[in-house]
Amino acid sequence: MEAGSWDYSLFWNEAMKQIEEEISEQEFAMWFNRMAYSHAAETQIFVAVPSSFYRDQVKQRYLGLIEQKLQDLSGTSLTLEFDINRSDPTAVGVATTARSSEANPEVRNKKRPRTPHPVLREEYTFENFVIGHNNSFAANAAMAIARNPGTGYNPCLIYGGVGLGKTHLIQSIGNSVYQEYDNLKIVYVTMESFTNDFIQSIREKKTQAFKNKYRYADVLLIDDIHFLQKKPETQEELFHTFNALYDSNKQMVFTCDRPVSEIRDLTDRLRSRFERGLNVDLQPPSFETRFAILNKKIERSSLTIPQEVIELICNNVTTNVRDLEAALTKLIAYADLVDKDITLEVAKHQLKDFFASPKQNNVTMDVIQRTVADYFNLSSQDMKGKKRTKVIAFPRQIAMYIAREMTEYSTTEVGLEFGGRDHTTVMHACQRIENRMRTDPTLEPTLQFLIRQIKEQSTKS
Ligand code: ADP
Ligand code: MG
Repeated sequence: MEAGSWDYSLFWNEAMKQIEEEISEQEFAMWFNRMAYSHAAETQIFVAVPSSFYRDQVKQRYLGLIEQKLQDLSGTSLTLEFDINRSDPTAVGVATTARSSEANPEVRNKKRPRTPHPVLREEYTFENFVIGHNNSFAANAAMAIARNPGTGYNPCLIYGGVGLGKTHLIQSIGNSVYQEYDNLKIVYVTMESFTNDFIQSIREKKTQAFKNKYRYADVLLIDDIHFLQKKPETQEELFHTFNALYDSNKQMVFTCDRPVSEIRDLTDRLRSRFERGLNVDLQPPSFETRFAILNKKIERSSLTIPQEVIELICNNVTTNVRDLEAALTKLIAYADLVDKDITLEVAKHQLKDFFASPKQNNVTMDVIQRTVADYFNLSSQDMKGKKRTKVIAFPRQIAMYIAREMTEYSTTEVGLEFGGRDHTTVMHACQRIENRMRTDPTLEPTLQFLIRQIKEQSTKS
């Protein structure tokens, strides 16, 4: 740190301290822990930040607040200048440990990054995760867990549709803990490999080794627990693993593509264990978040893509982040191949098919049932219940019809979601709605209205 003849570090540290009191702990950890006072000039303070993305976010959110504080404290108007310091060792993982001490760069823990974790993907970090309204609760929870594993939110379950960042977040927890706590054993698995591991351990009579692997984890991260459906033995084993870790205050984080209440054939005792902790959801990203995500990807790839092209993609790909990335990748691959600049024309042409068939994969059965039930003044429970009175049967048929229209669920799956009904009931329902549309001219607009509402619910943009 160069002090120079101007030193405002005292004011800076005090401003940080005051801001820390005023904003939430998560927010402070996210945006202030990695910004450090560097040096000063007569009316300027230079602060080091790890990336231009970080700088822009801080500027947008807090510049006014910080400058105001500095003015109040120092009695003169000081402006901030940001230096991007990419080699800053704290640039790995946002979630650093202690708090107030870290606002002061001198006592900050300048640890070298460890070599990457053998299983976790290196790029799945908090730093690479763009936070918007749709995911901020989940992201903040994940960062809080990474800072203090096993203490607060345990277990934590992150749920949401495909491509919304579940794997990215759960692995970010792993990467961050791995960097910050050398002594903690982090185990990350998908529910599928946990299951396969378990089956194999029985076959090879190595169940003790299996137990050791999972029950001695300090942080157990299990991705995609919906895979537990219809697997009673694996559920049983996970139940015991859960209890062992829970009793010794070890952190557990799970992800799931739906709320726990919607996992079929899950034993009550395991369900109640998942529900015991913090359950947070990921929603589809809004336009602003989609825009920020794409810009961040582009920033990392050192490409130049016109903003109008980015807007085009963001306007047309609303489903999830995976689709958003796929559109960008397709465009980049094309431009690379033919060695052309990516113009709006090129983008429109290349992504025509992509835009034509957006996968509305984020529509959940829950949203369909709720929306239809609301419209008819019923409850979601009525949709799944046994009653067959006309006031309930007709809306239920509509919901089944819409479910078949809007999702990839088979008639069997739809039946199961509607209180375990047979697939022929679903087929029948769809047939009746189709027939009725021919004679009742008001039905089709009603369905269209409901479908629009469901889409809106599913892709808040
Ligand atoms: P899921 O596990 O929910 O299906 P992933 O975590 O695999 O989704 O995310 C799909 C892709 O989108 C990944 O490449 C991930 O890095 C990216 N992604 C998702 N959410 C974000 C975000 N908020 N910011 C940046 N990248 C994201
Ligand atoms: Mg995933």
